[in-house]
Amino acid sequence: MSNYKTKKRFGQHFLNDFSVIEKLVYEINPKSDDLMVEIGPGLGALTFPLLDKLDTLNVVEIDRDVISRLQQKNESRLSIHGVDALKFDFASLLQKNKRLRVVGNLPYNISTPLIFHLLEFKSNIQDMHFMLQNEVVKRLTAETDTKAYGRLSVMVQYHCKTEYLFFVGPESFDPPPKVDSAIVRLSPWQDKTDSAENEEHLSELVAMAFAMRRKTLRNNLKKILSVEQIESVDIDPSKRAENLSVSDFVKLSDLYTRQQNLKN
Ligand code: SAH
Repeated sequence: MSNYKTKKRFGQHFLNDFSVIEKLVYEINPKSDDLMVEIGPGLGALTFPLLDKLDTLNVVEIDRDVISRLQQKNESRLSIHGVDALKFDFASLLQKNKRLRVVGNLPYNISTPLIFHLLEFKSNIQDMHFMLQNEVVKRLTAETDTKAYGRLSVMVQYHCKTEYLFFVGPESFDPPPKVDSAIVRLSPWQDKTDSAENEEHLSELVAMAFAMRRKTLRNNLKKILSVEQIESVDIDPSKRAENLSVSDFVKLSDLYTRQQNLKN
């Protein structure tokens, strides 16, 4: 990593384990004409192996020092966007009839807001492969009735199919992070049938339902839905949020929406 000093504030932990890079490229399975964007390329540990399989690749990188190193490679097939990925308009990359493929070994401190930012473009996204903190990947892929199942699981699984691909230990990075990592694949649902009438209501309701994990739905939702209302969609009010499926949450959210509509 020729005399480059990594920056903590940008969450820089560079991959330096060839077997992990190879496995990740295998899982991504790039096709030469894919429309792909990598978030946070750093010094290119993943970028150049991807570019071996692709005609072109977009990268979004915030750090000017990193950007100038990438520019020095003189690789005309690489489009470098020197901006904050949280503010980047991913729709600006779109080309006719192609959906975006997103990849990245993400800075862990911005991973959740970044996923939600990307979900705003979900109808134009084919899939996303991310290296994240292992605990976060467990939550993203958690099933109902487990400890890891929570607000993040419900909100992301509402939009995407989520898959835990593989574990990556700290020794695969330079410098090694303090936490374990893992690779997740998020694939936005293409023909989703059970969508909420109002997604803001869904997000509010899910937050409320999980506010006190150990409390029942009856308790956590009492400000917005009565026991009778919860029972009317065949959900037991003495259950806890962690016992509900994503489609149960959609049913409750639609009840809440109808009730708000009656009020107004
Ligand atoms: N993909 C490389 C680097 C991973 S480290 C590798 O695996 O080796 C995370 C990278 O994300 C760094 O290059 C860091 O500068 C970049 N980064 C951090 N915050 C960012 C942001 N808000 N937008 C875009 N890139 C960011």
